[in-house]
Amino acid sequence: MISIKSLAHLYDKGRRISFPDWEIAEMEQWLLLGASGSGKSTLLNIISGLLKPSKGEVLINHTDLYTLSARKMDQFRGRHIGIVFQRPHLIRSLNVLDNLDLAAVMAGLPVDEAHNLSLLDNLHIADLAHAFPDELSQGQLQRVSVARALVNRPDLLIADEPTSSLDDENANQVIQMLTSQAKDNGAALVIATHDQRVRNHISKTYLL
Ligand code: ADP
Ligand code: MG
Repeated sequence: MISIKSLAHLYDKGRRISFPDWEIAEMEQWLLLGASGSGKSTLLNIISGLLKPSKGEVLINHTDLYTLSARKMDQFRGRHIGIVFQRPHLIRSLNVLDNLDLAAVMAGLPVDEAHNLSLLDNLHIADLAHAFPDELSQGQLQRVSVARALVNRPDLLIADEPTSSLDDENANQVIQMLTSQAKDNGAALVIATHDQRVRNHISKTYLL
């Protein structure tokens, strides 16, 4: 479903980062492991179409991502990839459900409010549908971020360091939530982390 080949990136003033080839099949669950600064976020940005690599290619369902126009790329990302960022990026002036609806609109897809409500329900935050981001706890915000990442029924769900600021119990819950939501929604999963606690939950690992 997704493969990266001969990929490398060089930031303007940085060192060159090379990425081993990687194939992610449908619904597989992977950990992207590496020390801080090893290039995990860089790779996720490249796979998501947010950062053009200096070298190599990213194929998603046989489409070479970096041959697409900027507009097509945005659409493609919106439809195939759901991203849970390190810090939730929600629009503060919109309530939770409107934030979810917006994710569909941005990808040029029709709003499926029943689907969006069921995502909130599955994540046990249906009662927060009309709350605003400022009214939510960090844990609730993270759940909303996961729901929003799943709005467009992505083939791949990506989470960048989702547990780094959490205690053991909450870290466990977040990993359970991500693995089960990816499975229930038919998406592959990649979790980037340097958190050793996460290693027990997912068997496939890609090491940087
Ligand atoms: P990780 O997510 O594994 O901590 P990153 O992908 O964030 O690693 O960073 C990899 C390397 O690239 C680091 O040395 C970092 O300083 C550098 N880097 C990251 N982003 C930029 C940037 N926008 N410009 C220049 N260097 C960067
Ligand atoms: Mg990072």
